[in-house]
Amino acid sequence: MLQETGKKYLKDGVLPHMWCAGCGIGVMLGALLRSFEELGYAKNDVVVVTGIGCTGKTDDYLTTNALHVTHGRALAFATGIKAFKPGLKVVALMGDGDSVTIGGNHFIHAARRNIDLTAIIINNFNFGMTGGQASGTTPSDKISSTTLYGNPERDFDVSALACTAGANYVARSTPAHAWELTQYIKEALTKKGFSLVEVFSPCPTNYGKNNKMGDPLKMLRWLKEKGVSPEEYERLGEPEKDEYFAIGKLCDRDIPDFNTRYEEIRARALSS
Ligand code: SF4
Repeated sequence: MLQETGKKYLKDGVLPHMWCAGCGIGVMLGALLRSFEELGYAKNDVVVVTGIGCTGKTDDYLTTNALHVTHGRALAFATGIKAFKPGLKVVALMGDGDSVTIGGNHFIHAARRNIDLTAIIINNFNFGMTGGQASGTTPSDKISSTTLYGNPERDFDVSALACTAGANYVARSTPAHAWELTQYIKEALTKKGFSLVEVFSPCPTNYGKNNKMGDPLKMLRWLKEKGVSPEEYERLGEPEKDEYFAIGKLCDRDIPDFNTRYEEIRARALSS
């Protein structure tokens, strides 16, 4: 099944891929392609939009429609595609630098607009491709190539931000929970409105090395052990909340999406 899925959605001769050993991007891409297969999507049903960075390289490998755009702007282009061609399944694949640091404003407004597309964010807590600079999700006190003595800023909770801004569906998983990740991606793809799957992911080459957790296996174990259900996370006290994180479905509702609202308003205007 995996081989067949690869043949269908991956270009011939593109492997091995460019990601470092232990990087989580490949696991996310595998989960996405399995989701396409299990949902019966033909490659022409789908448009994958990417920005810049290690996650932004994913479109190089795909046989689906794909668009590789400027840094931070994947959601702006994805919004345009969905508004013009509502029948297409639009997926924006982004890193944390791309989606909520350089492209933060597009992210907030795509969620607020509740446009019917799926954003998948590989959150590895730094700008991986350009050498491990701090991003909007680098935790306080952590080391990056631009915060050598510790990050003085606080980090965004990307999932909470999407939920607060108006997304219909938000889930968080990790490459250490690959089966669950596939289920969340499938739910996100079939949900009407803006959906987000945030993937806490290892970047052993930069974030891991800078923070003395560089061994890929150790990073995966860290994700496996520290990811707890939203209910367990709520029961934790304040110091533990910094150490653990919630994984699972974090937001699920059915507010009418942008295209539905647009058609309603257009019909009202035409009949008046
Ligand atoms: S630099 Fe980090 S994010 Fe980029 S491929 Fe390597 S491990 Fe993955």
